[in-house]
Amino acid sequence: MRFHIITIFPEMFDSYLKESIIGRAIKDKKIKILFYNPMDFCEPKRRVDNRPYGGGPGMVLRPELFLRAFSKIKIKNKNKTKIILLSPSGKKFDTAYAKKLVKQKYTDIILISGRYEGIDARVQKILKAEKISIGDYVLTGGELPAMVLIDSISRQIPGILGKYESLEEERVSSSEVYTRPEVLKYKNKNYKVPKVLLSGNHKKIEEWKKGK
Ligand code: SAH
Repeated sequence: MRFHIITIFPEMFDSYLKESIIGRAIKDKKIKILFYNPMDFCEPKRRVDNRPYGGGPGMVLRPELFLRAFSKIKIKNKNKTKIILLSPSGKKFDTAYAKKLVKQKYTDIILISGRYEGIDARVQKILKAEKISIGDYVLTGGELPAMVLIDSISRQIPGILGKYESLEEERVSSSEVYTRPEVLKYKNKNYKVPKVLLSGNHKKIEEWKKGK
């Protein structure tokens, strides 16, 4: 799967995507991340944003620059390409949505990240992009939301999670997990691992996990 990210701050992605499971997936060529910066198409001495029509505070990102950045994406199969615009007023993202993209075998996911007051609304209309929100809060930009989508979608792709991190949804998992030591001492108090987990009784352990 290829992720094409349109952002004026591509460096923000560097450290997160380099590490751990996502870093390994990129190295193993299971996913590919490509960047397109609208700033690269900005005329000398002009700004990437402009004042909003109708007034109000904040600046609006200029549509032509985002469309030019978009035009650099090599789309191989339109039917297998999903265009997503990150927006706090979009449809709420969840695991089911991530799973659907993988199951439907999308090869290219285009993620458009805004900043400031957002991107001129005509970009979404022209590209027929789907507006997606990662939650009911407003962030300063779409870069974190884009990374949230990349992370969550990637871990649904077969082979990206190793045997130690296998898909949570596919097994009985719990939100409470424990490792050694069996008794943890902290400020003169002992904190024990729940007895059932040490019992060796798999049926009981599964039941306990389901309840957590
Ligand atoms: N006035 C704008 C807010 C802009 S926030 C509006 O109401 O839509 C700036 C940018 O951050 C947005 O363009 C979007 O790309 C991103 N963003 C902020 N919060 C987000 C959220 N919860 N989910 C997805 N993207 C978000």
